[in-house]
Amino acid sequence: MPRIGYHISIAGTMDTALDRAREIGCTCMQIFPSNPRGWAVKELEKTEIEAFRRKQKAYDVSPVFVHMPYLPNLASPKPEVYEKSKTAMIEALRRCNMLGARYLIVHLGSHLGTGAEAGRERVAAAVNEMERHAGEVTILMENEAGQRNSVGSRLDELVEIYDRVDHDRIGFCLDTCHVFAAGYDIGKREVAREVIETLDVDRIGCIHLNDAKHPLGSGLDRHADIGFGHIGRSGFENFFSVDGVRGKPMIMETPLVETPRDAKGELGLVRKLLEA
Ligand code: ZN
Ligand code: MN
Ligand code: MN
Repeated sequence: MPRIGYHISIAGTMDTALDRAREIGCTCMQIFPSNPRGWAVKELEKTEIEAFRRKQKAYDVSPVFVHMPYLPNLASPKPEVYEKSKTAMIEALRRCNMLGARYLIVHLGSHLGTGAEAGRERVAAAVNEMERHAGEVTILMENEAGQRNSVGSRLDELVEIYDRVDHDRIGFCLDTCHVFAAGYDIGKREVAREVIETLDVDRIGCIHLNDAKHPLGSGLDRHADIGFGHIGRSGFENFFSVDGVRGKPMIMETPLVETPRDAKGELGLVRKLLEA
């Protein structure tokens, strides 16, 4: 059985996320390193870091994935935003290392109409620069949902960027909703197999397990509860049957609105689907 968890709120102090995760039965979790909607970061307290590390071990919630805040854009053509984005990533890596979190998940951002190649170039350069800040952390590049001007919606594009990174602190986070929205019918076994092969199963550090609110190829990043979207319950069963998938830690970022279950119940459902 793979490790499964949720994206968990860090309201209060960082270590309280672990209490929430344990409460609902997560065996791994994802958090933001700081307020996801702002650039400002509040320094972590020493007691907070110690409590985080202690609880993570005691509760056996592992891995802890840290997800970059929303504002940074590593593909931005605006020098000021680009620099600020790299600074934010360095800060996120620093926090990962302080907390003992081993993975930082990043979206590759938007080239804002300046062309996909220029966007890839800026992302690869930024990720290359992160080598000396990575410490114990591996950066996982997440596939995008096919939004206009986004970088990393096509899997071959992600692989191309990966190939331009000259260090090994790098891998992928595969989001099932995003890949479906980008036009890959992940609920079909053959397509799912191809997706995993294209990224290379050994390079996938995390799976974001989300159903898709809109139809195949919509280009819309809108998550649905598992079984309540266009991938559907049988789609997830197909996906889980592909070699390598069950070996990956999974994080849900579902809205918990369509389902009658709570987070705990959702984890139970996914565990049942994984056992089948
Ligand atoms: Zn993400
Ligand atoms: Mn995601
Ligand atoms: Mn999303």
